[in-house]
Amino acid sequence: MATERTLSIIKPDAVAKNAIGDIIARFEKAGLKVVAAKMAHLSEEKAGGFYAEHKERPFFKDLVGFMTSGPVVVQVLEGEGAIAKNRELMGATNPKEAAPGTIRADFAETIDANAVHGSDSPESAEREISYFFGNDEICPR
Ligand code: ADP
Ligand code: MG
Repeated sequence: MATERTLSIIKPDAVAKNAIGDIIARFEKAGLKVVAAKMAHLSEEKAGGFYAEHKERPFFKDLVGFMTSGPVVVQVLEGEGAIAKNRELMGATNPKEAAPGTIRADFAETIDANAVHGSDSPESAEREISYFFGNDEICPR
């Protein structure tokens, strides 16, 4: 499998729970490397643009409200099959359906505050990484 990069966000609920370190430890233990990272309190415009694909969904307004409710930690993860591996570590979108031992099963209770974001395809990874990071902010290692 090829080395890939994916965008990960530790969402406001998980940051508020002081779970940043626990979540990043799971990525590292699974062999993913953090090659870029920053903390940010997203504006409505930044969060809305990030989730533009969901603009017509009934939950869009609440999603933007939640994502701007507190700081997030945004990182680029690199590794073999990083996109699928991160999605596996995250678990299903709805924490109630997430497999035991996944991040969402362990750190989230509801579908709207579900602890983490992860890119779902090579195309979205490329768009999402460049949405948050310039090339000079990514540190290959
Ligand atoms: P994922 O984050 O697993 O890729 P989606 O891309 O489908 O999931 O949705 C983006 C985010 O929107 C989800 O992580 C969740 O926070 C929110 N969301 C998705 N579906 C719902 C829903 N039915 N009700 C409320 N929020 C939702
Ligand atoms: Mg998604």
